[in-house]
Amino acid sequence: MAAAPATAQAATVFPKSHVGFDSITQQIEKKLLKRGFQFNVICVGQTGLGKSTLINTIFASHLMDSKGRMSPEEPIRSTTEIQSVSHVIEENGVRLRLNIVDTPGYGDLINNDRCWDPIVKYIKDQHSAYLRKELTAQREGYLQDTRIHCCLFFIQPSGHGLKPIDIVVLKKLSEYVNVVPVIAKSDSLTLEERAEFKARIKEEFAFHNLRMYPYDNVEHDHDEVALNAVIKEQVPFAVVGSEKNIVVGGQQVRGRQNRWGVINVEDETHCEFVALRNFLTRTHLQDLIETTSFIHYESFRAKQLLALREGGGYSGGSRPISPSADRELSRSSQRMTMNGY
Ligand code: GDP
Repeated sequence: MAAAPATAQAATVFPKSHVGFDSITQQIEKKLLKRGFQFNVICVGQTGLGKSTLINTIFASHLMDSKGRMSPEEPIRSTTEIQSVSHVIEENGVRLRLNIVDTPGYGDLINNDRCWDPIVKYIKDQHSAYLRKELTAQREGYLQDTRIHCCLFFIQPSGHGLKPIDIVVLKKLSEYVNVVPVIAKSDSLTLEERAEFKARIKEEFAFHNLRMYPYDNVEHDHDEVALNAVIKEQVPFAVVGSEKNIVVGGQQVRGRQNRWGVINVEDETHCEFVALRNFLTRTHLQDLIETTSFIHYESFRAKQLLALREGGGYSGGSRPISPSADRELSRSSQRMTMNGY
């Protein structure tokens, strides 16, 4: 057979008339719109840091109730109860199934020894449940995704830096989930204090080698790299939340009324709430979902399959895998061995 000419190059072929496959994007869009999107967020931080308020402010609805104590007589929660609430919110025909996981109790107690365990376990359990469903012989066509796509980590606006417990928890969490740190109640800091606090936290993240979302990715194009550079500069977002509307200059704004004036949550000169909301909902929603799937879940999955291959057994979630899933897991692991993984 004659060898192809060395100069032959892949050429772009234009159809002579309209074939119609350019409608594939509309087809995908229609399918996605019908199915809707699932987004799972976990909020981690001490009680009273404004977690419920911020979530309700971001999604402009009352999605979460405060878990704080309303009076000093109420007992402090002694355990970290993980509670998840689901909502379907719709905007211009796009349905978003939002799962918000609250972790009251973290860091609230005098002895906070291993208080992060239930949170990390919860996140791993979601990966494990997904793996179990994925490996079930007769699995459903569409797997309900409960994997956590984003962890909003609330930092106390102390002006000093991260607490030792924060460092331990951030280290653990960033192994399994996209961590987005926010400085809670940033209205308590002056602009100068805020800038210094931010710089300090950035330094601490770098010093302790804490992984912060967004990550570098060789597949990112020029625009994505530029956008992520802006986000990396902004993180941790210094936010203010409010569920109240206040009239300022004849206009209703989301804000907090103080004796000396109003903090307009949506005013970018007052705080970075809008930047956080845009980042979460407009620019990085899909990337948070994909990064969870391709980085965090993949690494969890690979570890589980390797553990099984090496005879260590399945060690991921707290529940044992079902017998049929176990068989599938062994088969997958055998396939991995055959393929030289
Ligand atoms: P959670 O326990 O972390 O969910 O905290 P909540 O959302 O229940 O908020 C606790 C209290 O802090 C409430 O009285 C809120 O009105 C108030 N709060 C929430 N966000 C802010 C904020 O950004 N600044 C200030 N100053 N107070 C806030």
